[in-house]
Amino acid sequence: CGVFGVRDPQQSASHLTYLGLFTLQHRGQESAGIAVSDGTKILVDKDMGLVANIFNDHRLQALPGTMAIGHTRYATTGASAWDGAQPVSRGADGVYFALGHNGNLVNTATLATRFPTEVFGSDSDVIATMLADDITTRGHGNLTDAVTAVLPQLQGAFSLVVMDETKLIGARDPHGFRPLFLGRLDTGGWVLASETPALFVVGATVEREITPGEIVVIDDNGVHSHRFAEVQPRRLCTFEFVYVSRPDGILAGTSVDAARRRAGIALAQQAPVDADLVVPIPESSISGALGYAAESGIPYGQALIKSPYIGRSFIAPTQAHRDTALRLKFGPIVENIAGRRLVVVEDSLIRASTFRRTVRMLRDAGAAELHLRVLSPPYRWPCYYGMDTGDRSTLIAATKTIEQIRADLDVDSLVYLDLERLVEAINPQPAGLCTACMTGDYPVPIPRPAASRQP
Ligand code: SF4
Repeated sequence: CGVFGVRDPQQSASHLTYLGLFTLQHRGQESAGIAVSDGTKILVDKDMGLVANIFNDHRLQALPGTMAIGHTRYATTGASAWDGAQPVSRGADGVYFALGHNGNLVNTATLATRFPTEVFGSDSDVIATMLADDITTRGHGNLTDAVTAVLPQLQGAFSLVVMDETKLIGARDPHGFRPLFLGRLDTGGWVLASETPALFVVGATVEREITPGEIVVIDDNGVHSHRFAEVQPRRLCTFEFVYVSRPDGILAGTSVDAARRRAGIALAQQAPVDADLVVPIPESSISGALGYAAESGIPYGQALIKSPYIGRSFIAPTQAHRDTALRLKFGPIVENIAGRRLVVVEDSLIRASTFRRTVRMLRDAGAAELHLRVLSPPYRWPCYYGMDTGDRSTLIAATKTIEQIRADLDVDSLVYLDLERLVEAINPQPAGLCTACMTGDYPVPIPRPAASRQP
């Protein structure tokens, strides 16, 4: 998911939030929403679909105010339905607030048992209910105190934007699984966003990352920071670098594009091959393919052109539809494929069903040889921290050997980038990545029996 928040006394917060969400669209394409405050009340507007399809100027005009949060959703817990759209909002004891969440809690079921009469749509719903409950039962009527009291009870991944009528709050879990940045506007306003391009698009400069375990409160008096948890080892998601984040962003002190290029260089060093052309599976593999080509001396080229108009929401219920969907997504450049030995660079192979069809498309276009190079290690363990990867039975590398995967995909050779090389290529500052889906070593214990290491 993508989260965004802005507090700027001089500009329409809903319009700024629209721009931020548009820039964070790739982090979630199922639903999107904006909550805005005019200083006295909060309005929420959210719907299923893409940001640009939901909001227009007319709809944004109906959300007046100088403070807002927004969310683009990629369902990890809870169904992909309107009920799961965010921001989530609640009222309690005279305090009305809205919340947007990126990440996934691992103790949702335990937390939910405290509210036996409630029906929850998602873990984010549980967080909102806990905040409302804290405000009501402790009677302090203060959102900042509630956030400070509730966050230490949450386990797992959360980058949050929360607001009441007058203040904007950002917070990040103690391991920092998901990113969250603070930006500064030259109007005196402040911005929170999952990725730095969303700061750039509204004209903000990057002030800093929200540090893991930190709460920032932005109000009339500026930015106030305090901690809700002790410093823990950093565990930023490795896949933020591999494919989640935009390549034009900066994450953990490094350019995402540069990290991907270094991964491509490392892959060329680890797994050279005699070939005619290095081609990416667009678009998240482009930087890595450029790195592979530069290091190997094999020319870089394009084999597949990706339609900019196809989203994840394209519905493909049958095999025939799925083949059509792939042809809508990718158009082959036959001149670059026919009779050529291709190094095909892909960011990851999680389920591999789409990639199997992509290989067939390249074979049909006359590729002489296909050498698949993957910019990350085999993805063998489900993610419980905000990526919806299903259980182990859906992960191709959890159930097959690399040789079986190669044969299954019908490629001539297959090499995955070693984990050590990938971590070295990313080189986050400060150091510390989550690698659980590749190693099975979960930094925050996951619910049983899912923790079983047996396939
Ligand atoms: Fe990222 Fe994998 Fe960790 Fe999930 S398990 S947070 S996908 S590195």
